[in-house]
Amino acid sequence: MKKTIAVIAGDGIGPEIVGEAVKVLKKVAEKFGHDFTFDEKLVGGAAYDAFGDCLPDDTLAACKGADAVLLGAVGGPKWDALPGPKRPEKRALLTLRKELGLFANLRPAKVWSALKDASPLRPDIIGEGLDLLVVRELTGGVYFGEHVRAADGQSALDKMPYSVPEIERIARTAFAAARTRRSHVTCVDKANVLETSRLWREVVQRLRDAEYADVELDFMYVDNAAMQLVRAPSRFDVILTENMFGDILSDEASQITGSIGMLPSASLRADGFGMYEPIHGSAPDIAGRGIANPLATILSAAMLLRHTFGLSAEADAVESAVGAVLARGARTPDIAKSGEKALSTTEMGAAVLAELDR
Ligand code: NAD
Repeated sequence: MKKTIAVIAGDGIGPEIVGEAVKVLKKVAEKFGHDFTFDEKLVGGAAYDAFGDCLPDDTLAACKGADAVLLGAVGGPKWDALPGPKRPEKRALLTLRKELGLFANLRPAKVWSALKDASPLRPDIIGEGLDLLVVRELTGGVYFGEHVRAADGQSALDKMPYSVPEIERIARTAFAAARTRRSHVTCVDKANVLETSRLWREVVQRLRDAEYADVELDFMYVDNAAMQLVRAPSRFDVILTENMFGDILSDEASQITGSIGMLPSASLRADGFGMYEPIHGSAPDIAGRGIANPLATILSAAMLLRHTFGLSAEADAVESAVGAVLARGARTPDIAKSGEKALSTTEMGAAVLAELDR
């Protein structure tokens, strides 16, 4: 397979962790006989310093022209004083999502068996393990509806619009993902109150019956889902939900795994094109010290292989390699116990590469 990947490492620890993920993708290409080209561009504060713009035209064009995008993280104190629309997070991240049409946000939350101690949940709640995927609608709902403040300033209104096509396309993403996992989708909503939620239920049920009858589907109110995530998280496989509920639940789900340096994400378009990034930020407090955990970015690269390139065996190989190095005790400082020997960013990357070579 011949593919081009736009690589936008960004700020802080971005270049350190993305560097390791690119090495892993190169190893996968070599091992499985693919031809990946890496088109490296500046984004975020690094691009602002070079060109006065956190998302230069050249970077956006490279992302649009690529088969997939691998992003590190953007932002940091150096650029905090920039006016809102020019800041790395707003100018780069929101524009990329909008311009690339990334309507589906996938955030897997997994407690790796070797890292069970890191979770704030009790061992009996985690049980044999925890492995769920939040599929969040990313470009609709109340964040993109009308926001109005009355002329007298004493009342306000936020609209939460959703259309059938918007619900269908995100539901398809969730059902397709479920087929590669444990074939169970839980659609989370507030259908006892919201009309948009009732529309979601109708559309999701109809789509499941017509096209995904092999996937189990149930519905849950969002307040109950927030509770079940800490009470019985292993009951979930894929959580499908709208933008705002997904924003909140995906953060909750990530925290129950206990380690921000381990969590990947994908933002997808209908044709499978996607932008892949760790869920954490640029970690300016540890940038340049070579101690950042590269595994979230390496796992984001695995998601890229699976979701955009359809290379499941290759994605499985990367995820198994991560599981194996963790099982053997490889730890960066963020996941090491006190007194435990910790690896540097490049040593952790090298451990994954060595495992892929086995
Ligand atoms: P952060 O995620 O960067 O860091 C939070 C804490 O987690 C820090 O102590 C950091 O050292 C640690 N951490 C994060 N990633 C780690 C890793 N891979 N290995 C080890 N430790 C890790 O969040 P923050 O400090 O709130 O934000 C820093 C900057 O990043 C801000 O400018 C923020 O706006 C930006 N940010 C960017 C993104 C993005 O690019 N998608 C996301 C979140 C925050």
